[in-house]
This record gives sequence, C-alpha cells and structure tokens, in this order.
Amino acid sequence: MKTEEDRPRRELRVARRTLIKAAGATSAALGLSGLGLCGYQAGRDPDSYTGCEGLQGAAQSFNRKKFAVDEPPYEKVGPTRRADGRTEVIFSRVGVARSAAQMGKRIEDLDEPFRSYYEQHPEDFELDKQNSELRRKVAEDSPENRNRYILAEAWADAMGAVSPRPIGNEPPEISDFPGRRSRSPFKMKSSAATAKLIKKVSYEFGTVLIGITKLNHDWVYKYPSSRRGFAMNEPIEVPKHWEYAIVVGTPMSWDPMYANPNYGTSNDAYSKSRIVAFRLASFIKRLGYAARPHTPGNSYDLMVPPIMVDAGLGEQGRHSIVITPELGCNFRPAVVTTNLPMSTDKPIAFGVQDFCKNCKICAEQCPSGAISKADKKIVRGYKRYQLHSSKCFNFWNSNHGSLGCRVCIAACPYTRKSNWVHRTALQVTANDPTGISDKLLAGMQKRFYPGPEPSDFYAATLGGKNASYREPPWWLRTEDFIEL
Ligand code: SF4
Ligand code: SF4
Repeated sequence: MKTEEDRPRRELRVARRTLIKAAGATSAALGLSGLGLCGYQAGRDPDSYTGCEGLQGAAQSFNRKKFAVDEPPYEKVGPTRRADGRTEVIFSRVGVARSAAQMGKRIEDLDEPFRSYYEQHPEDFELDKQNSELRRKVAEDSPENRNRYILAEAWADAMGAVSPRPIGNEPPEISDFPGRRSRSPFKMKSSAATAKLIKKVSYEFGTVLIGITKLNHDWVYKYPSSRRGFAMNEPIEVPKHWEYAIVVGTPMSWDPMYANPNYGTSNDAYSKSRIVAFRLASFIKRLGYAARPHTPGNSYDLMVPPIMVDAGLGEQGRHSIVITPELGCNFRPAVVTTNLPMSTDKPIAFGVQDFCKNCKICAEQCPSGAISKADKKIVRGYKRYQLHSSKCFNFWNSNHGSLGCRVCIAACPYTRKSNWVHRTALQVTANDPTGISDKLLAGMQKRFYPGPEPSDFYAATLGGKNASYREPPWWLRTEDFIEL
C-alpha cells in the first residue's frame, strides 16, 4: 500500500517516464520532419536535377543586374543601314566567287548584287576566289596528316545529324551502311577502347546514361511494328550486322514529370534521345561501320526495355518500365544497332525485384488498373510483370495535357531527384538482403507522401477531378500567365 510520502515520488517517476517518452517521440518526429525538410531542400538544388541540371538555369551564374546599363556598349555614330544577307554574309556570296574563279569571270561579268558588292570590296573578290583552291590544297596533304582528324570530322558531322523524323523506308542492308562518303571500316585498336570512345562521344551528343550489349534476337520484333524497310506482313530476318545494341537515353524534365498526367510530356526526353541516337549512328557510319537508330516514338524494330536490362542500365520494375539507379524510371531510351566491335556491359541487379514484390505503389496509383498487383507471369518464355497496354492507353485518352499518363513513373520511389537522402536510401535498399529497408521505405512513402486517389486523375467529365500526382511547376500554371 502506497503512503502519502510515496505519491509525489511515483508521480515524479510517471512524469519522468512520460517526459522521456514524449521527448523520444518528439525527437523522432523532429528527426523525420528534419529528414523530410532536408530531402525537400536538397531536392530543390539544381545539382539534384540529374540529367537536366541546365534546365534549372544554374549555369547562368553571373550577376548581370549589377552591370546593367541603359544603353548597349556599342557606339552609334551616324546614319545606319541593314545588312544585305546575299552579299555581306560570307556563306551566301562565296559560291559566286568560287564559280567565278573556275570560269575565269571578272567582277564586271557578275550579276547584281554581287557585281556592286565586289566592285566596292575588290579585296573580298580575290580572297573569296582563293577559297576553293584552299580546300584542294588541304586535300593534297599527306594521308597521315589528314587521317589524324577522322574522329574530329565524324564528331562534327554527327553533331549536325539531327533528324526529327523516323528513318526512311530503306531496308537495313542499305540504310544502315555508310553512304557516299563511305570508306572501308577503320581498323579499331581494341574493343575496350572503342567502347570507351563510343560512351564518351555519346555523352557529348547529349546522352545521360549509356550501356552496350550484344543484341539478343529475342528482342527483335518477329513482324515489324512500323515500316522501316521491312514488309509489314513478313517476318523480320534479323540482319547479321545487328551484332551490338547501344542504349542511350535522357530523363524528362523532373518537375513537370512529377505533375503527371496533366503537365508532363515524354517528348522532351524523346527528342533528346532521338538526337543522340541519330548523332551516334552518323558517327559510327563515318568510321565505316553499319548503324541503325531505333528511336521514340514508335520508330523501332525491337523492344527496348530488355535491351536496357542487358546493357546494364537497370532492372525492369512492376510497371514494366526499366528502373535505373541514377534516374529511377525517368528515362527515355533509344537504341543503335551496329556491327562496330565493342566491349559490352554486364546487367545489374540492385534490388529492384525484391523491392517491387512488396512495394506495389505504381499498381495502387495507376488510374487504369493496367499494373498488376499479382506475381510475375510467363511472357513469350520470360518471367516478368506485364502491363495491360489497352487499359493504359485508354487512360492516356482520359485526361488533359499532352497525350500519355506517366503517373507510374512519378509515383515509383526510385524516381527521385538525386539528392543525398535519395542516394542514401538507394544504397540502403540495394545492400540490405533482409528486405526490411524495402518495406520501411515503401511504407514511408505511402504514409508520408501519398498521391491522389487513382480515380481523381480522370477528367471531370469521366468522373475524376483532373488531379495531378504533384503540383505543377510555376512556369506551367497557365492561369498565372494567361487570362482564362
Ligand atoms: S502510364 Fe498511367 S495508366 Fe499507364 S500504367 Fe502507368 S499509371 Fe497506369
Ligand atoms: S512503384 Fe514500387 S512496385 Fe512499382 S515499379 Fe516502382 S518500386 Fe516497383
């Protein structure tokens, strides 16, 4: 039986226990919110905008305001006139001077406006005539001197090889091979050095990630999905020169991507990846080897995700999209098939298969029910998750904004800006064989960062609320810029 004297001590003990518990709970809450805050702040750093750092304007770092002046720092000293684009631009007039040199014409033999221009600038006439002679003299230089610049020329040509459209309808035996400037293939010193070169120039061409693999013919379509030199109803015979597949790719701009389905687009990354692939194919052809770009949208002869996996870029997730360690599934790839011998990369397994078993966030957030919560199944002889493409495509046509959805990409816990919180979490899950951290991290995302109800993603006329996974970035809020 407790005495009166005991009571204050007991109350004190209870109070101390309560205090300790409260302190523990408070520090845990502070710790978690601190972590969340740090993650949020770190996520706003342009450096975390992996693959799109320049889009945040961080490179324009000079403080111009401090040096702003009212008048531009050039001098206007008299009556002005506009330039004549026909004669005052060297690229426009030089052809006239070159043909004058070949045909022995003088200034007075030329048509206007070139006659007047060269009458006023006779020294330009002499210099411009010399121009064609210069190229001929350079071409006479020794092979040793000329060949030193093979890579530089291939790189320069590749940088200009940007085709916004799919390749034409020539069969691979024609379209993949070097054209009129063809030479027999240069003998490369080693496949390891070639792979290193191809990776470096691909970064120069704009890729963010790259991997190289031997092409598994299982990934080539049996029948073509679009003409690219193939007969639509005849089986594709995999060309012998499709020995290797190089996978390149870039991310979609992060903030609009998080605000899918209404504010994102695949086109920003599609076009960048397409440009990289066309440049890379051009570069390889200049070395005398065959190359064919397979690019978004829908100009492919093969399935890209498993090739990405073979090339070591990532693992295929429950939503069927490949998850990379650097960009999660915010990655739009393109492939170049080639016979250029290169060392290849190995596939990687960094824990995605285990994580996806438990996580299922994409399936829970998917508005169309296209992503299964069930186990993998056998698809064309391989065990994998399979997306229900008709359900998915129907949702693409059920919301505003650009065609598509991409909510599964935005919601996937791997698709996070590369700040230190995310990098740490990635290391923890990748190295934890128990699966405990997988459950913890997926649980934390569901608890602390839930998305809208899946049905809310639909347009209001289809019973939804026009919801986006996250708020749009300021520069895509139409209502702040345009009177509606
Ligand atoms: S794109 Fe949208 S509809 Fe299609 S699977 Fe992903 S979340 Fe579902
Ligand atoms: S959201 Fe979860 S289940 Fe879906 S792909 Fe990403 S990690 Fe896997």
